[in-house]
Amino acid sequence: MSRIAEVAVSGTAYSFDMLFSYAVPEWLNIREGCRVLVPFGRGNKRRIGVVMKISEGDTSALKPLADAVDAEPVISGELLELAVYLREHTFCTYFEAVKIMLPPGMGVKVREKYSIPRNSAVQGEISDEARELFSSLACASGEKELNELIENYITENGRLLIDELCEAGVLASNNVFRQNVGDASVKMVRLSEKYLSDPQSFSLTPKQQKAAVFLAEYGSASVKEAAYMCGVTDTVIKRLTASGAAVEYDMEVYRHVEDGSEGSCDPEDTVLSDEQQKVHDAVLGQMFERKPSVFLLHGVTGSGKTSVFEKLINDTIKLGRQAMLLIPEIGLTPQMLRRFRSLFGERVAVIHSGLSLGQRLDEYKRIKRGDADIVIGTRSAVFAPLSDIGLIIIDEEGERTYKSESSPRYSTHDIAKQRCGKHDAVLLLASATPSIESYYLAERGVYKLLEMKKRYSSSPLPEVTMVDMNLEREEGNPSEFSRRLVEEINLNLKNGEQSILLLNRRGYHTIISCCDCHQPVYCPNCSVPLTFHKRNGRMMCHYCGYTGEPVKKCPSCGSEKLISMGFGTQRLEEELGTYFPSARILRMDADTTFSRYSYEKNFADFRNGEYDIMIGTQMIGKGLDFPNVTLVGVLSVDKALYAGDFRSYERTFSLITQVVGRGGRGERKGRAVLQTFIPDHYIMNLAAEQDYKGFYREEIAIRKVMVFPPLCDMCIFCFTADDEVTVKNGADAVIALMNVRLKELQPKTPVRVLGPVRCSYGRIGGRYRYRIIMKCKNTAEMRGFISRVLTEGAKLKEMAKVTLYADMNGDVGV
Ligand code: ADP
Ligand code: ZN
Ligand code: ZN
Repeated sequence: MSRIAEVAVSGTAYSFDMLFSYAVPEWLNIREGCRVLVPFGRGNKRRIGVVMKISEGDTSALKPLADAVDAEPVISGELLELAVYLREHTFCTYFEAVKIMLPPGMGVKVREKYSIPRNSAVQGEISDEARELFSSLACASGEKELNELIENYITENGRLLIDELCEAGVLASNNVFRQNVGDASVKMVRLSEKYLSDPQSFSLTPKQQKAAVFLAEYGSASVKEAAYMCGVTDTVIKRLTASGAAVEYDMEVYRHVEDGSEGSCDPEDTVLSDEQQKVHDAVLGQMFERKPSVFLLHGVTGSGKTSVFEKLINDTIKLGRQAMLLIPEIGLTPQMLRRFRSLFGERVAVIHSGLSLGQRLDEYKRIKRGDADIVIGTRSAVFAPLSDIGLIIIDEEGERTYKSESSPRYSTHDIAKQRCGKHDAVLLLASATPSIESYYLAERGVYKLLEMKKRYSSSPLPEVTMVDMNLEREEGNPSEFSRRLVEEINLNLKNGEQSILLLNRRGYHTIISCCDCHQPVYCPNCSVPLTFHKRNGRMMCHYCGYTGEPVKKCPSCGSEKLISMGFGTQRLEEELGTYFPSARILRMDADTTFSRYSYEKNFADFRNGEYDIMIGTQMIGKGLDFPNVTLVGVLSVDKALYAGDFRSYERTFSLITQVVGRGGRGERKGRAVLQTFIPDHYIMNLAAEQDYKGFYREEIAIRKVMVFPPLCDMCIFCFTADDEVTVKNGADAVIALMNVRLKELQPKTPVRVLGPVRCSYGRIGGRYRYRIIMKCKNTAEMRGFISRVLTEGAKLKEMAKVTLYADMNGDVGV
C-alpha cells in the first residue's frame, strides 16, 4: 500500500476532464491542496496540477508525481470542496475551478534543469533507444547545450526516454519553479532626458514616433495607457524604452489607494437610526445562533445600508470571526475602501481586478496569514482564503456583475451561500432594487426579508418629474434637453448645487454611419459597430479590442458620405455648451476613464465641488454618495427597455431608481427629471414613483406567464466557430443529441429546449456564435444531463471545429 494523489491537471478540456491518479513517491512531501508537477499523456510531458485528494492504495499501475511546487497547501480543504461544487455547477474543469481560488500572480512556470552526474555510464536494463539518446546527449559540450538538446528532443518526441534515463540515474533533473508574481506597482513610462535633450539622435519607427509624440504631450502614462492612446501594442512601448528614448518606472498604486484615507474613526461612534438598528439586530442575532442563513435587505437609496454594514462587520470581528463585503464594481471601491480603512485600518484587505498582480498576491497572503480579517472586493473576492467567516455581505446584490461570464461561470450568490454553509455564517444581500430572483426567494420565506423604508437623513426620496419628449418635439423643441430640465439645471447652477445627468450607454458611444446605405461601420471581426474615440482619434471595438484608423469610405456601398453619430451624443455635448456656457462639466465615459486611476480622482474632484455637472452612463448611476447633488436628469434610457432579453425591464427600472437615488442625499431635498418618449410605459411610471414592490409584482407576473427565471432556470449552450455553416451544423447536431438523450432520461422536472439560433451578436472576435436555450430546473439530474451533452457533444464529428460551453442562468442578451 502506498499513497495515491488525485490531481486536477491544467490544460484539460471539459470533455475529458477528471481527477488523474498518481503515485506519491516516498521522498515527496505533499498534502492535499499543494501544487505538483505531473507527467501527463502519452509523451509524459510535464503539467502543473493541484492535489485534490490523497488516499492509500495500490499504485503499481500509476505514474509517479514528478515534483512538488509547494510544501504547504495553497488551497484549504474547504476551498477544495468548493472547487468540486464549482465544477459540478458551472461545467468547468477541475483545474479551472481550483485556479480561480488563487490570485493570478500565483500561476507558476516550470523550467527543468538537466545535468549528467559524474562517472555515469549506462549499465543494466535500459532500452536501446534510450542508450542511443544518451550517447548523443553525452557529447554536449556543457550544461547549457545539454539542456537545449533535451528541450528540443522533448518538444519533438515527448519525454518517455528522458524519464527512462533519469530513472536509470544517468541523467539528473531538477525543477525550477517560477511564480509569475507581478510587481507591486504599475509600469509607467516617460521620455528619457537623453531623448528630450536630443531627439534627433534616435531613429524611431513610425509607431515609436507616435508614442514619443504622445509622451511629449502628456508627460507620463502607464504602459497600457500609452499603448491604448497610440493604438499600438505594449511591445512598441517596450522597444521605445529599450532604445533608451523612454524610461519605465514603477508607480505604487497601493499608496495611491490609501492616500485619501480620512484619518481614523471608530465604528463604535456611529449611532444607528431605529430602522438601521432593527436590521442590525436581526442579522447579529442570527450570527449568535451560528446557523447559516440568508437575509435580503431591501433599503431605499440613502437609507444608510453602509452604516449597518460597518456595525455588523465590527461586531463580527469582535466575535473573533471574519467578514467579507462584496461590491459590484471597481469604480466604487475607493470610496468604500477609504471609509473602511479609516474604520478598521490594516485589518482590511482589498481584492479587485484593478490591482496589480503583486498587490493581489500581497493581499492574498495577508488574508491567509490571518493579518487581515475583513475582505472587501469585487466578484472573485468571494473565494478569499478566510478560515472563519462569520458574515458575507453582497452590496447592490441585483447587479449582473456578480455573475461570472467566463469559466468558471459562477454566480457569486451561490458561492457565498456555499461558504456560509461551511462556516455557519450569515449571508446578507442588500439593495434598493434587489434582483427579481432574490426578492422572489425572500417573498417565499427562503430568505429573511429586512426593510429600510426611510432615508437616513429623513429627507424624502427625490421628487420625480416625467417629461414627455414627444410633446417637446411637437412644441418646437428639437434639443436633447427638455425645457424643464434646462430650468432645473440653471436653478442648480445659480444655487451652487450639483447635478448628475444619466445617458444610455448606447447613446454614449460615437459610431460612424453611412448617409447613403445607412449602415454603421462594423468591426471586421464582430457584428458590432466600431466606436470612434476622440482622444486617440481611432475606431475601436469594445468586444475584441480591434483598433484602426477611421475609414473614409463606407465598407458596404463605397460611399464617401460618412457621418459620426452617437445617437445624439455629439449634439448633446454641443447643447450642453450652449445652454450652460459657464458650467464646469465632468464627463465620465469609457473614453475619459479608461484609466482606473482617473475614476477615483474624478469622483473625488466632483465630490469636492470642482464640477457643477457630471454626465455619464450606468457607471455613475449606482452606489455613489455625493451629498451636494440635488438634481438628477435622466436623458434617454428608453432604448434600454428594448435590449431584447428578459432582464431588460429589470435593468432599466433598477438603473432609473438608483440614479434618481443619487439626488438629495444630504440636507437638501432632491429633484429628478425623467425624460422619455414613452411616458405611458408602466416601467417608466413605476420608476418615477420609485415603487420597487409595484415593479416586482408586474415583473413576476410576466415571468410566471412566460416561464422565465426565477420560475425556472435557464441554461445557455453557446457554440462558436470560425464560420457560420460549421457552427450551425454543430449546434444542430447537438440539439439532435439532446433530444435523444432527453427522451431516454425522462427527467423528473419539466424541460424545454429552444433554438438553435444565432446569438444577438452573431460574431465576436472573428468567431460565429449560436446558442441553444434550455429552460429547466437546476437539479443534480439536469446538471448531469448538461454535463453529458457537453462531453458527448464534443465527440460528434460535426463538433470537431466548434467550441461549446454551458452557462447556467447566464445572460441571453449577448
Ligand atoms: P445607501 O447605501 O443605503 O444608499 P448610504 O449608506 O450611502 O445609503 O447612506 C446615506 C447617507 O446617510 C450617507 O451620507 C451616510 O453617511 C449617512 N448615514 C447613514 N447612516 C448614518 C448614521 N447611522 N450616522 C450618520 N450618518 C449616516
Ligand atoms: Zn454605405
Ligand atoms: Zn471586434
